[in-house]
Amino acid sequence: MPDTADLSDERSRASRPLPKAGIMDIHAYVPGKAKAEGVENPIKLSANENILGSSPKAREAYVAAADSMHMYPDPRASILRTAIAEKFRLEPERLIFGCGSDEVFAILQQAYLEPGDNIVQGEYGFAAYAIGAHAQQAEVRMAKEPGYRIDVDEVLKCVDERTRIVFIANPGNPTGTWIPFSEVRRLHEALPPSVILVLDGAYGEFALDPQFDDGLDLARTASNVVVTHTFSKLHGLAALRVGWGYAPSEIIAAMDRIRLPFNTTIAAQRAAVAALEDEDFQKRSIDFVEQWRPWLSQQLGGLGLDVVLPSAANFLLVGFPKEPGRTAVEAEAFLASKGLLVRGVSNYGLPDHIRITIGLEEHNRAVIDALAEFLRR
Ligand SMILES: *Cc1c(COP(=O)(O)O)cnc(C)c1O
Repeated sequence: MPDTADLSDERSRASRPLPKAGIMDIHAYVPGKAKAEGVENPIKLSANENILGSSPKAREAYVAAADSMHMYPDPRASILRTAIAEKFRLEPERLIFGCGSDEVFAILQQAYLEPGDNIVQGEYGFAAYAIGAHAQQAEVRMAKEPGYRIDVDEVLKCVDERTRIVFIANPGNPTGTWIPFSEVRRLHEALPPSVILVLDGAYGEFALDPQFDDGLDLARTASNVVVTHTFSKLHGLAALRVGWGYAPSEIIAAMDRIRLPFNTTIAAQRAAVAALEDEDFQKRSIDFVEQWRPWLSQQLGGLGLDVVLPSAANFLLVGFPKEPGRTAVEAEAFLASKGLLVRGVSNYGLPDHIRITIGLEEHNRAVIDALAEFLRR
């Protein structure tokens, strides 16, 4: 990278506006595919959305919000703030809301990263973290994930005096794997107090093992832990873009300085409150994944494919052979030709894997039938 002074000079003399250093080196986020060539209504198993849709109560609240379309939303998202604070027994003033949890990460990074600082994440960590860090001209350090799982010692090896944030998605995406709370606590205890530990709980509600914990209790008393959750996955409100973070007051105060005032909409706030209340829909969604994830995993294993286990999320990561004709890239294309959209994850450094969201029964059966055909060819 040229030094900042040189670049600043070059930018001043340029014949057109130049973005700051590093921006054009960022790999823009690649979303899960939503279209398949020549297929009318493909089945989308590429973005870990809730296959049961969303709560009918959330839908009602969303539709009713049409009456308020001409008004700015409450900048504090007060109804949602109160609902979450009550449900999780949290101090309302320690919550922050974002346009998806992606925005919560981005705000945190804007407030805490300077050029030359770094973040640490797992080598297969969620792509949004790296984008937000690079936008602040910070370095991204990838900790090895042996067995496709976060390894606390590997994470700690990456931490140095310029580390400001450690991001851990638990369960992880695209791996689906998770680490027990004892390991999260060990990581937290070993981190310098100046480093923020972000525990991204996007799939936390699907993780039912008693050894799993999303870290809210740790965050209650720690001065450097931020826990995030989203309405995009379990609650099936991905289109509404609403996520939240729970952090120490000092961190919230910094983030609230730069958060844009109307970053969550009225419709999103109200639908999220209704979704939070609809425990029946949440339970059905979790039970559904619990029922079909083992089935899909077993069937994939039966086809001779390497399923990354244990997954505690609403998707599976599946390894394919390297031999031409049977690779992950070809499998993804073959499934797409049958109208089944899954997620290739080579951008996550996993060129031999695909990620499959748990679908409805007929979707899951169609995936298995198609992959059986693919491997037989
Ligand atoms: C989907 C996902 C999120 C949530 O993103 P939103 O911006 O809230 O939609 C966060 N982290 C991970 C690891 C995810 O997979």
